[in-house]
Amino acid sequence: MSGVAEPAPALLETRNVSKHYSAGAGLARSLARRPPEVLRAVDDVSVRIERGETLGLVGESGSGKSTLGRLVLQLEPPTSGDILYEGRSVLGRRARETRELRKRIQVVFQDPYSSLNPTMTVRQTLEEVLKVHRLAPAGSRRERVEELLETVGLAQGAADRKPHQFSGGQRQRIGIARALAVEPEFIVADEAVSALDVSVQAQVLNLMVKLQDELGLTYLFIAHNLAVMRHISRNVAVMYLGRIVEHSPTIDLFREPLHPYTQALMKAAPAPVARRKSITPALTGDMPNPISPPSGCHFHPRCPHAMDVCRSVYPATRVVQGRSVACHLYPEVEPPQPGI
Ligand code: ADP
Ligand code: MG
Repeated sequence: MSGVAEPAPALLETRNVSKHYSAGAGLARSLARRPPEVLRAVDDVSVRIERGETLGLVGESGSGKSTLGRLVLQLEPPTSGDILYEGRSVLGRRARETRELRKRIQVVFQDPYSSLNPTMTVRQTLEEVLKVHRLAPAGSRRERVEELLETVGLAQGAADRKPHQFSGGQRQRIGIARALAVEPEFIVADEAVSALDVSVQAQVLNLMVKLQDELGLTYLFIAHNLAVMRHISRNVAVMYLGRIVEHSPTIDLFREPLHPYTQALMKAAPAPVARRKSITPALTGDMPNPISPPSGCHFHPRCPHAMDVCRSVYPATRVVQGRSVACHLYPEVEPPQPGI
């Protein structure tokens, strides 16, 4: 017997995961014998998500959130690093095992309209999912569809209507029902409420929280708006140009954002979600080109606190009061606590 118990594995963990795309590999570059440029969409990201928990992932458009979501969904493999599910790497598994695992992780997108077949009724769409995944025998599909619609708060009559006959919030509920039809344990919600009016946003968030309680679901909840995180996730990771710059319990993050980027996002979204219609980050300057990110800390050209070191050295991740932040403003090693 070993004396030290291994910590229980997280439901999902990424270890130093990166996803690079080649960009600018055009004819002019190859004639000039220059190698294609590399776009680091996700760069050395390590996060853990415990079963039944929600990790919020926030950052401006282009920061790499959806790419990380696709890696988690195993729609593409990472360029480097590892992804573990229940403590086991998802990479290099047999095709059948990968298929099984993919079923356990479903996605809800920003706009289910674009992914719902406009000519099919909700019943046809949901029955098709049940059929393809062999989740309910033909005789019980009808009943299962009714049950799914009830679960997401849609009236019975909804089953025989087509996508265009629903409001944005209702369509998002259909998107959730379609994900739930597969009986997943993990849902990647990629900007799932971002296109909705604020009052509808709150309703869909409440539904997602209720479903999490009832079904024990685990969420990776992606949004470019920090305010919605308060309503759904216990922990938040803030992403900027492919990297996690701050990772913290939501409550602490809202009380005192540590990273200047998080502080800027916070200023851009000060009001509770119910009072703001759309929130655009009030950050000065544009997001840099991810193909040639700024030297040192990627955020330094936009940072009001930038120091010399920020221009040359990417900050290592520091642990400050149990939260992690990649910023030179904080000491690299936590000073020893008095009395310890
Ligand atoms: P977010 O979801 O935070 O808006 P994305 O993950 O969609 O960010 O994109 C991150 C960066 O990666 C962007 O610069 C985007 O242009 C780039 N990118 C995403 N997918 C691809 C791809 N398939 N090929 C090339 N570049 C991509
Ligand atoms: Mg995205």
